[in-house]
Amino acid sequence: MKCSPGNAALLEGVYNGPAKWQKGRMKCPACDSNLHSMTVGKLTVDVCKGGCGGIWFDNFELTKVDEPDEFEGEALLHIERDDHLLVDYERRRNCPKCENIVMMRHYYSERRQVEVDTCPNCAGVWLDPGELAIIRKEGSEGADRQLAARNYFGRLFRQDFLKARPRP
Ligand SMILES: [Zn+2]
Ligand SMILES: [Zn+2]
Repeated sequence: MKCSPGNAALLEGVYNGPAKWQKGRMKCPACDSNLHSMTVGKLTVDVCKGGCGGIWFDNFELTKVDEPDEFEGEALLHIERDDHLLVDYERRRNCPKCENIVMMRHYYSERRQVEVDTCPNCAGVWLDPGELAIIRKEGSEGADRQLAARNYFGRLFRQDFLKARPRP
């Protein structure tokens, strides 16, 4: 079969094109700056670098960094931002991925410490600066509770534990 350059270009366009095109034109839902994709570890998110400093997570991406021991989250805590930029936190925010879909504001967890914007269509999440830190802190408090439970059970089994442990 003959493969003309035209066909190759077309295939490449289909495979590669739309995703890149969409990424490039994503606008910040809070301040309308262009979003920049940022890769930390295995995770790629879109950040409002040099704008308001917010972060866009595609569906499920946030669950990869919401626990304090997920190191990728550390790199996302301080996105370079423009301190002079005024952000209207009260305005309606459209999903940066879905056209004309207004995001819904709701509490991230039962602890009700932070409200996040979620798109009802694609389930992506927008975080304003500082919100990821609070979410990760909530995660660590959850971890504390797990640790407390482990310590409790640890006490119950300490006798066996000490016996099993080789002496120095
Ligand atoms: Zn922004
Ligand atoms: Zn969406």
